[in-house]
This record gives sequence, structure tokens and C-alpha cells, in this order.
Amino acid sequence: MPNSNLGKLVVAIDGPAGAGKSTVAQKVADALGCLYLDTGAMYRAVTWLALQNNLDIEDVDAIVDLVNRTEIVIKPKDETSGGRVRVYVNGTEITRDIRMPEVSAFVSPVSTIAGVRKTLLEQQRKIATTGGAVLEGRDIGTAVLPNADVKIYLTASPDVRTHRRINDLAQLGQVLDYDSVLQDIKRRDEIDSTRKVDPLRKADDAIEVNTDHLSIEQVVEKILEICRKHLGIAVD
Ligand code: C5P
Repeated sequence: MPNSNLGKLVVAIDGPAGAGKSTVAQKVADALGCLYLDTGAMYRAVTWLALQNNLDIEDVDAIVDLVNRTEIVIKPKDETSGGRVRVYVNGTEITRDIRMPEVSAFVSPVSTIAGVRKTLLEQQRKIATTGGAVLEGRDIGTAVLPNADVKIYLTASPDVRTHRRINDLAQLGQVLDYDSVLQDIKRRDEIDSTRKVDPLRKADDAIEVNTDHLSIEQVVEKILEICRKHLGIAVD
């Protein structure tokens, strides 16, 4: 019988691009019976909006002003959303637009802006305090939810991450070559882990899970086992 306390857990899942966070986090949230938030989708939504408004990516004030005037809504995935959450800005659906290569190219520079991070962090915290939740991103365990019950840091080799990203994008109808995806992943890793505000790093109390040789189901089960252990539920 499912333990109702599992659904009250706050779980932080961080890691670099293509480590499998989205798929895994979504399945963990489903198994726990709690909310799932893809925080990367929020950074992508801001980036899409800045590009849409022809803002200069260097124009920090204009981007911060834009994010403060924007309502971002994330809804659960469904059969026609390409396996990802549904994303809306100011009432317009941009679920597929935020996965376009142009957004991927600019999202990491936009994510270095302190004012953008501050606004999104506050929104993410608010969403997580409504009950149990699985939040996935780069700074969840270190900055957004430093008191999360369970913290996971997912990793995988650049080669494995590149193949996964290619498969993800194929689901959305985008065909990209190996080298361009690998370069994008490496460039984002570099910007995300070296930025001044809340860089990508493993929280001291996070458990690292290398997913290179594990199936999605095995990673999900590993995380659920960590959740059960946290609650002192016997694992057989
Ligand atoms: O998870 P995803 O690859 O969609 O994230 C896109 C980008 O958003 C990341 O490369 C990173 O620059 C940014 N991001 C972030 N902090 C988060 C989530 C995503 O800086 N919590």
C-alpha cells in the first residue's frame, strides 16, 4: 500500500543538460503522487519571450523588467505535448517553441542574469511550498530548496547525454546532428557551472546518481528507494 507521507516529500533533482532529469523527475513525481516542476522550462520561457521581443541579450535591465511583467504557467504534460510539460506565457502556449535550437542557444546566457534568477526562484519556492513536490533544474538543492527532504544530483557522460538529447528532440520533430548537440551541451555546461549566481553544482548533502548504464526505470527506482529510506520505510 502506498505510504501517504511519500506524497509530502520535497525532492530536488539537479544535474547538467541531458542527464535525464526531466523524464526521471516526472516519473518520480507520478510515483510519489505529488507535483512536478521543470524549472528549466521557466528559464526557456523567459528566453523565448526576450527573443520574441527582439531584446538584446546583453540588455539585462530590459530582460529583468520583462520577466517581472510576465506570467509563466507550467501545466502537466499530456498525450500531445511531446513528453514535456505544457508551458504558457501571458496566456499564450509556447510548449514546443521553448525547445527550439535558438532558445537552447540563448537560455544559458539569460540564466546568468541575477534579476531573472531572483524572480524565478521566488515563483519556484512558492509552487514547492503548496505540498509535496519534485523540482528539477540546476540550483534546486543549492538555492531554491536548500531544505529539501531528498536531494539528487544526476550525471552522465557527455556522449550519453548527447544521444539522449537527440532522442528527446526527435520526439518533438527536430532532427539535429551529434556534433551540434554535443557542442550545445558542452557550452551550456560551461556557462551553467561557472556563472556567478547559483551555478550548477552538487549540493553537499545531495546523493549523486550516474545514469550512464541505467535505464530510466532503474534511475526512478533508485530515487524512490532513497525517498523511502528517508522516511524510514522498509525496503525489501
Ligand atoms: O533543463 P533545461 O536543459 O531545459 O534548462 C535550460 C537551461 O536553463 C539550463 O541550461 C540553464 O542555463 C537554465 N536553468 C537554470 N536553473 C535552473 C534550471 C535551468 O539556470 N534551475
